[in-house]
Amino acid sequence: MSANNKMIEPAGASTPPTIVVVGGGFSGAVTAVQLMRQSRSPLRVVLVNESGRMARGLAYGTHSNAHVLNVPAGNMSALAEDPEDFLRYCRWSDPLVQPQAFVSRRHYGAYLEALLSTAELASDGDVTLDRVTGRIDAIRLSGQGAELQLQDGSKLAADAVVLAFGHFAPHDPLSAQAVAEAGARYVGDPWRPGALAAIGPADDVLLVGAGLTAVDVALALHRGPRSGRLLAISRRGLAPQSHRPSGAVPGAIDGASLAAAMGDTVRGGLRALRAELRRASARGEDWRDVIGALRAHTPALWQRLSLADRARFLRHLRPHWDVARHRCAPQAHDRFTALQTADRLQLLAARLAEVRAVEGGLEVTLRPRGGGTLQRRRVQAIVNCTGPTSDLRRSGSLLIGQLLDTGLLCPDALGLGLLVDAQYRVIDRDGRAAERLRYIGPLLKAGAWEATAVPELRQHAQRLAQMLTSQC
Ligand SMILES: Cc1cc2nc3c(=O)[nH]c(=O)nc-3n(C[C@H](O)[C@H](O)[C@H](O)COP(=O)(O)OP(=O)(O)OC[C@H]3O[C@@H](n4cnc5c(N)ncnc54)[C@H](O)[C@@H]3O)c2cc1C
Repeated sequence: MSANNKMIEPAGASTPPTIVVVGGGFSGAVTAVQLMRQSRSPLRVVLVNESGRMARGLAYGTHSNAHVLNVPAGNMSALAEDPEDFLRYCRWSDPLVQPQAFVSRRHYGAYLEALLSTAELASDGDVTLDRVTGRIDAIRLSGQGAELQLQDGSKLAADAVVLAFGHFAPHDPLSAQAVAEAGARYVGDPWRPGALAAIGPADDVLLVGAGLTAVDVALALHRGPRSGRLLAISRRGLAPQSHRPSGAVPGAIDGASLAAAMGDTVRGGLRALRAELRRASARGEDWRDVIGALRAHTPALWQRLSLADRARFLRHLRPHWDVARHRCAPQAHDRFTALQTADRLQLLAARLAEVRAVEGGLEVTLRPRGGGTLQRRRVQAIVNCTGPTSDLRRSGSLLIGQLLDTGLLCPDALGLGLLVDAQYRVIDRDGRAAERLRYIGPLLKAGAWEATAVPELRQHAQRLAQMLTSQC
């Protein structure tokens, strides 16, 4: 194990096959764990991570206990082959943790770190892990392997590369002029360490976006006493939804039959889904169980849609789907709703039309949904809560730019991610699959739609490692 880039030797005839994993968030760390667990012959895994602690990534690097998982502990094992693994980890420190509990994301990050170290200790001496802190800026493929260039100019040689670079910072929902006008009062990326530190307890804050990121930001700002108000705007003004309270009896919905009835168009799918929701409601069942039952069938449903229908879904239905599918933990939802009830937080269906710097803050002009009179409000800060972007063309990453320029990566037509084949081989500009370049992470949603959360990513990590170790 090494944290020192200078110690990294090039792969060669005398060394075991080397797999370099670019990105040490959930996807990269769990792929490294699976490679170590599954390899039956000598293998060197190199895990390169640019930011934060290894195995935490964007989601699990938070230091706030107010940030809880939005999936119950019983479904958060990082190991597809061992569904109870995370629950067992939780019960070491608290034997009373139930599968329905929503624990902190910070605790989950500690679990991932422990999992990586345990896999490293358990792997036999022929399978090794190098941890490298640094940024990969370029990758060149050859017939024999790949060469990766780090930010400090050093190079790594690999027999295969796994891209696990994760999320990109949110793109600005404000015009360049509005960003300039807002200056330091605009927080473009709320996940940047210390991003919210300059916002005082008396500041009124505009949150652009009203989904799970807005919930996180609102709860983080309300960690201590605060007199300032929050205003969250989104195009439709949909409120975040909560998971079913623990203890509720789940309904028995046949997801396979529902998916079959939904057919291969958005219109037909919506009709069948609405009918099932009505039936579930008449039976006294919860709508969440209908959405949940579709989860395993979503990739097949997505793949059946034409490109035009996928675009139609994104245009008209995505906000409704996101709210129904990506729900928050009941305790986070309760706190968010309590802020609304106490008039500390308002949700509004509106767009941000203009930002003007005024003495002591910003004057924002809001255009309410469906027309109506423009509204003017005074705030001291604006926070971008639109969530991470998946559009490669807006990533701002040197590596992605280089891979796009050389044609090794190809964004999908809808800007949801990138194209891979069934073996996770990245499809290049000419439609060819690169044997030595694989991808795992949330951008798989381009081909599967449902691919961004742990229950899906852990399966991808297991499969990808199976494919790679069977070839080494
Ligand atoms: C705020 C948030 C909360 C979530 N909560 C949940 C939840 O409760 N339950 C659930 O199931 N799912 C949740 N998810 C979804 C899911 O767990 C994440 O999508 C998952 O963590 C993705 O991990 P990743 O490793 O692909 O990406 P990331 O977490 O973004 O990690 C990518 C890593 O790669 C590094 N990197 C990027 N480029 C380079 C480079 N060129 N060189 C070297 N390193 C690089 C980055 O520094 C980063 O550390 C959440 C997602 C978010 C954003």
